[in-house]
Amino acid sequence: MPSVTDPAIDYAFDRQHIWHPYTSMTQPIATQGVVSGQGCQLTLDDGRNVIDGTSSWWACVHGYGHPEIITAMQQQLHQLSHVMFGGITHKPAIDLSKALVNMTCPALTKVFLADSGSIAVEVALKMALQYWQGRNKPAKQKIMTVKRGYHGDTFAAMSVCDPDGGMHTMFGDNVTKQVFIPAPQTPFGFSPLQTSAEDANNTLDKADLDALIHAFATHHQQVAAIIIEPIMQGAGGMRFYSPAYLTKLRQLCDDYDVLLILDEIATGFGRTGKLFAYEHANIQPDLLCLGKALTGGYISLAATMCSDEVAKGISDSPAGVFMHGPTFMANPLACTAATASLQLINQQLWPTQIASIETQMIAELAEAIAFEQVKDVRVLGGVGVIEMHHTVNTAELQQAFIAQGVWIRPFSNLIYIMPPYIISTDELTQLTTAMKQVAASITAPQIHSDAEFISHG
Ligand SMILES: *Cc1c(COP(=O)(O)O)cnc(C)c1O
Repeated sequence: MPSVTDPAIDYAFDRQHIWHPYTSMTQPIATQGVVSGQGCQLTLDDGRNVIDGTSSWWACVHGYGHPEIITAMQQQLHQLSHVMFGGITHKPAIDLSKALVNMTCPALTKVFLADSGSIAVEVALKMALQYWQGRNKPAKQKIMTVKRGYHGDTFAAMSVCDPDGGMHTMFGDNVTKQVFIPAPQTPFGFSPLQTSAEDANNTLDKADLDALIHAFATHHQQVAAIIIEPIMQGAGGMRFYSPAYLTKLRQLCDDYDVLLILDEIATGFGRTGKLFAYEHANIQPDLLCLGKALTGGYISLAATMCSDEVAKGISDSPAGVFMHGPTFMANPLACTAATASLQLINQQLWPTQIASIETQMIAELAEAIAFEQVKDVRVLGGVGVIEMHHTVNTAELQQAFIAQGVWIRPFSNLIYIMPPYIISTDELTQLTTAMKQVAASITAPQIHSDAEFISHG
């Protein structure tokens, strides 16, 4: 028997006993053993290095093995790794919450520290429902959202994910029926194919405008809140839409007494070129969900922020308290990692890093639009997308990318990257080159081989 500390990867055990995201236990797709990470490089168990184009699903924005985050976590680990948060508080939670209140817009003053992104979404939805109980509008029990969204895998989060993306039909009545608006169509005016950013960002397509107005006018009495990923819909299709959509949304929320929840779990902390994507539209949400890059990808943590008014409404509700409190709430080790990560963000290197990543991706990916199998190429901030006409074979392409020395994980018909902010120009060129070569090598429609057609992206 190999001991549990045996450095070799026991692939057979992995296949037989361990679930991976969105996979089958009886027909698992191949997994790749990774033994370490440094900067933008992951070292595989066979000694090869690959450049990470995913930031480990949006999270690892400062790269792996960052000395400042590691040192902060090591010190905290010795001091206090965990303590319950009921009736107890600690400096790591306070430092982190101060940083979040300072970084976000003035309206957001209250912080709930949750375990993961999906839970931050659950918390936001519960807050919205309790708020209207406290404002004597108990009929407001539905959540409104747009199609093509992704907000997590727990049940309430699933209820606001794209309704055509699989999980709704799969779980039937267990998934609450919510109110869906067509996905935003007005594009963000920034792609290799569009030159006039200004125009596209100030005007809303009539179809979008009509759909929004119709939804609010029809459903506002039942709707507590609308939840949306600002500017970029991630796992639901890597779609970028116009800030004008958010401006209109904010206005309708005010007019119709609907809370605005922005899910910035993927977009937060600079990824779209603004610290928070809502800044593209100059609006303030009533509630904000953060996660993924919050700890720089070092450990799981998420946050739900809300306004004074939302907090007051919850206190006026029959319960008088907010009904949520996980065991590992505000885990000190995770809070410390997050504070260290936010200190790096606050050093303000990211605007230049994201701007040059964006410029380089536009220059290097644009030619892919000419490929026969390519439907669209788009870039926003630190996100670069080649959209194919047909669904690609994730498992096969994953292998093709590893052979090229990069870690890129396509899903559905999307080959996309969101690299760590610290990536060098050479490393980024290797990523874009691999994307183009793999996209060009796909000649015929591929058969989709796993169930990952809506996933973390
Ligand atoms: C990843 C993601 C979530 C879910 O976060 P988990 O930490 O995976 O639970 C929710 N919303 C958005 C926009 C995400 O990208």
